[in-house]
Amino acid sequence: MTNCFILLAAGKGKRFKSNNPKQFTNYINKPLFMHSVDKAIKSELFKSIIIVSNTPIKSIKDKSIKVIKGGKERYQSSQKALNFIKNKRFTNVFIHDAARPNFSIKLLKKLNLNLKKNKAVVPYLTTDNSTKYRIKNKIQNLNRENLLFTQTPQCFNFKSLFNLSKLNNTKITDEATLFLDNKKKIKFIKGEESNFKITTKSDLKKINILNFYGIGFDIHKLIKNKKLYLGGIKIPFHSGLQGHSDGDVIIHAIIDGILGAMRKKDIGTLYPSNNRRFQNIRSPNMLSPILKNLDKEGYFINNVDINLICEKPKVSKYRKKIVTSLSNLLNLNKDQINLKGKTVEKLGLIGKEKAIACEAIVSLNYYA
Ligand code: ZN
Repeated sequence: MTNCFILLAAGKGKRFKSNNPKQFTNYINKPLFMHSVDKAIKSELFKSIIIVSNTPIKSIKDKSIKVIKGGKERYQSSQKALNFIKNKRFTNVFIHDAARPNFSIKLLKKLNLNLKKNKAVVPYLTTDNSTKYRIKNKIQNLNRENLLFTQTPQCFNFKSLFNLSKLNNTKITDEATLFLDNKKKIKFIKGEESNFKITTKSDLKKINILNFYGIGFDIHKLIKNKKLYLGGIKIPFHSGLQGHSDGDVIIHAIIDGILGAMRKKDIGTLYPSNNRRFQNIRSPNMLSPILKNLDKEGYFINNVDINLICEKPKVSKYRKKIVTSLSNLLNLNKDQINLKGKTVEKLGLIGKEKAIACEAIVSLNYYA
């Protein structure tokens, strides 16, 4: 069985009141539509992902993701995507509206499981509101117990959906409508309250994001005949930092800050100095598995503030370069990183240029 994930991101979103369509607005650290893409990838349920968009998307480099142009109406975009994949032999297709970025991977897996015995599986919610129904000027009571509010992702046997979709030329708001209109069976499963649709700007603030802070400190001795690395770049200097690794105090302090905020102990536990495997390791290579784990667990960095404590080199001279390097390594914008230089009035070992120290505070946001 092979699955395809179709993400409908071609809507104009008139109620959102912005020049930038809402699916491309920045939402919790990335473009809104990317939340759905990333979850589809992480679920490992899909051989291919199709994004239907009327705005060009350049940032996608993954070969399993295709961007195609959408239609004027939602149903036309959906039809275009189904046509695009009609010869690609997918057993099932999941269709999702980009305006719902907050579904869980668990929901995707539940939908997939139910597809084994059904040709259409659709998540729904009930309501607690007393409900009325208007017909022309008359308002009638409606029993809320009988109401189903459908969400996306919805998933279908590809052939069944394709055949129904081909014949449709009415404005439908979801694919479940097609199945019901044609008296085909749907398996309804419980949806998620958090999987709400983002329609207006105030919807962007509905989700609860947790903040965590971590502090990191590091110091290394300066020795002759070693290259000096700070923030991932080589700095011309009379000495370098002694250590098991390249001694990059900035990256080490940041790593400890990240681990602190994630409540995952410290750099020494992850990279014990008695392990030969880590001999002469470059610090960016120590950082990258930690960043992967950070992303996997649903955290992202909000900002990093750094104090580099040394007599020399002069921080002001290298600030730009170091911040640029860190922004590449951490995948952050430069304005999320601040680097301060602190001398120690020529006092102690640091004052005599025998050591360099660094402290960093990292703020993480958590959203899963
Ligand atoms: Zn260190």
